[in-house]
Amino acid sequence: MAFAKNPDGRWAWVEVDLGAIRRNTRALKAKLGPGVQMMCSVKADAYGHGAVACANAMLQAGANQLAVATVAEGVQLRQAGIAAPILMLNECPETALDLLVQYDIMPSVYTFDFALAYGERAAAAGKVGRYHLAIDTGMTRIGVLPVDVVEFRRNLDFHRGLECAGTFTHFATADEIEDWDFQLQANRFVEAVTAIHEEGLDTGLVHCDNTPGTILHPRAQFDMCRLGIGLYGLHPADTTRPRVTLEPAMSVRGKVTRVVRPPVGAGVGYGLTYRVAKQGVQIATVPMGYADGLARQLSNTMEVLVNGSRARQVGRICMDQFMLAVEPDGPRRYRPAKPVEVGDVVTVLGRDGNEEITADEMASLRGTINYEVTCNFGMRLEKVYV
Ligand SMILES: *Cc1c(COP(=O)(O)O)cnc(C)c1O
Repeated sequence: MAFAKNPDGRWAWVEVDLGAIRRNTRALKAKLGPGVQMMCSVKADAYGHGAVACANAMLQAGANQLAVATVAEGVQLRQAGIAAPILMLNECPETALDLLVQYDIMPSVYTFDFALAYGERAAAAGKVGRYHLAIDTGMTRIGVLPVDVVEFRRNLDFHRGLECAGTFTHFATADEIEDWDFQLQANRFVEAVTAIHEEGLDTGLVHCDNTPGTILHPRAQFDMCRLGIGLYGLHPADTTRPRVTLEPAMSVRGKVTRVVRPPVGAGVGYGLTYRVAKQGVQIATVPMGYADGLARQLSNTMEVLVNGSRARQVGRICMDQFMLAVEPDGPRRYRPAKPVEVGDVVTVLGRDGNEEITADEMASLRGTINYEVTCNFGMRLEKVYV
């Protein structure tokens, strides 16, 4: 199998397939009702995939708006020349308000003092500060409570420096089908939006669906959907799997830097938690570790791919390196086509021939979700776009 060339400075890297990002964007866009806008979440450096490259790919494939979590994430997109509307999905310290105004990044708003300070900074710059109102319909994370929404808006609407460009909520259980809590949140949201309209105020774009919501609850799409994990080719839950075909965009690879055949009884890594039990086992070293997002708790439990076969990772995963064992007479799936050599490509995440290590496999070994797996690989590894 052909792999991307390693970056100049390192034998380990993240491969990001921008074609897959574009195809996933189109596949999810096809799930939107007529006229529904698509907001793409590129927070956390696009879930570890690289925000600028992914945002550009998504915009090419039909995205209308972008979402980020921090001021710095928004500024990075603007400095890369991206002109699409950007929503920050929460509030930030007031010390960053001038950056929001300067770079035209819309904050989510749910605290009166924050909103007022934002309006003041926008007015001082001779601009109108556009924002999206967050409503807490039941997740108990951020947002104005539904009972307070109308008064909140009344108190803000006099301000010449502010304009409501959107109104949204976020679901806690969008990945479940026919869930009572989901329905309760949806009902509260519709009531709050209706109350704002009845007050004669403009809600801007109304939105609430994330990836699972978009796929499973099309009736809640309203004016816009906020897509995230699906754009990167991963499913938020098993419930969405049968509804849309997605391609994982991230692969993580490293090259073998050393191979030995230690004698029986030799230990591997800190604490010597693995010992060679048979003659002829090869122990190979790969320069990638937990500081690259390869969680240390995977030590002695995860598998990798090399030359199209599975191999066990052995010994404790170090900060910058890990070891693997190749057993010439192991079970069939683990039997290498040839002995491992220095320079062979090891796949930690992604495909090699007929075998694949998925973010879901890794997540279940770690007791987490695929979102955290790809975010973590964004920590230090250089990205190679293919
Ligand atoms: C991250 C996020 C999304 C996207 O969620 P996915 O599950 O990745 O689709 C949407 N809305 C809000 C408020 C978010 O924080």
